[in-house]
Amino acid sequence: HAKQLGKGQFQFYTDVLNTAAHERLALESALRGAIDRGELSVVYQPKVDRDSRPTGFEALVRWASPDFGTVSPARFIPLAEETGTIVPITDFVLRTACREAARWPDAGLSVAVNLSARMFREPQLAARIGAILAEAGLPATRLELEITESALMGDIEQTAETLAAIKALGISIAIDDFGTGYSSLAYLNRLPVDVLKIDRSFVTGCDRGGEDMAIPCAIISLGHSLRMRIVAEGIEVPGQMAMLSAQGCEEFQGYMIARPLSAEAALAFLHGEHRISAEDCV
Ligand code: C2E
Ligand code: MG
Ligand code: MG
Ligand code: MG
Repeated sequence: HAKQLGKGQFQFYTDVLNTAAHERLALESALRGAIDRGELSVVYQPKVDRDSRPTGFEALVRWASPDFGTVSPARFIPLAEETGTIVPITDFVLRTACREAARWPDAGLSVAVNLSARMFREPQLAARIGAILAEAGLPATRLELEITESALMGDIEQTAETLAAIKALGISIAIDDFGTGYSSLAYLNRLPVDVLKIDRSFVTGCDRGGEDMAIPCAIISLGHSLRMRIVAEGIEVPGQMAMLSAQGCEEFQGYMIARPLSAEAALAFLHGEHRISAEDCV
């Protein structure tokens, strides 16, 4: 009987594994064709300064799959990194975001695009980004690339070289989700970084002040002493913005200011016509 049960359980677990593996495989192959089928789009989340004036937008990719529904980038980006699909996805996001930014009324507005670790292995990365900027007619100074700490680790010499080539074009570099990755502080003053983005996890409780402000304060003062700008992500309530602003944080991004917006809604936001509506909340 025990043998019987054991066998049954084994069968059960392999079925679960097979289902998970199949789902992954199906998702993976669906993702591969998603760009060509026009299922990917880009949304734009505003960033504002201390006086709530827009400074730019972060471009965030969206996937509407007819088979899987709306798939979160938190789910498909890691998959895309493993399979290499991240390369055409990044090209698509860069092209779309740069073209869109060229339409914005204020030539001072920047567009930030997320760059995964995998992209650092692409030969001629800087040249490719340069070509995309030229094609879109967007000055390089208006593009910012958001990179996580973990992506910067690896081969420091190689990373420094790639970043230097990107910087030479006039593009800015931001470290995303700062403080959450595996990193060494030693890399910070060896790499040409312009912006530190305080991760949402440190912003969440910071309106309580006291110890909850310790890490944001440390990040702000570290960044400023290295002549970097500080952006806080995940601002949901006024108290968070007030606390961080008082400590010298320059820019703010989060649901309180606006959700990620469609290209049209982003333009309306710039024209001050923005109202939060269900369609905007993408
Ligand atoms: P991220 O770069 O840190 O982007 C911020 C994420 O936080 C976005 O989620 C955004 O919608 C969400 N967010 C913004 N404000 C708030 C807030 O006030 N509260 C809360 N709870 N969340 C907020 P999203 O768009 O789902 O993206 C998740 C992650 O997926 C991004 O984190 C980024 O790592 C990755 N990702 C998104 N688009 C791209 C892309 O085009 N390329 C690459 N390589 N990664 C991307
Ligand atoms: Mg980001
Ligand atoms: Mg972030
Ligand atoms: Mg984050």
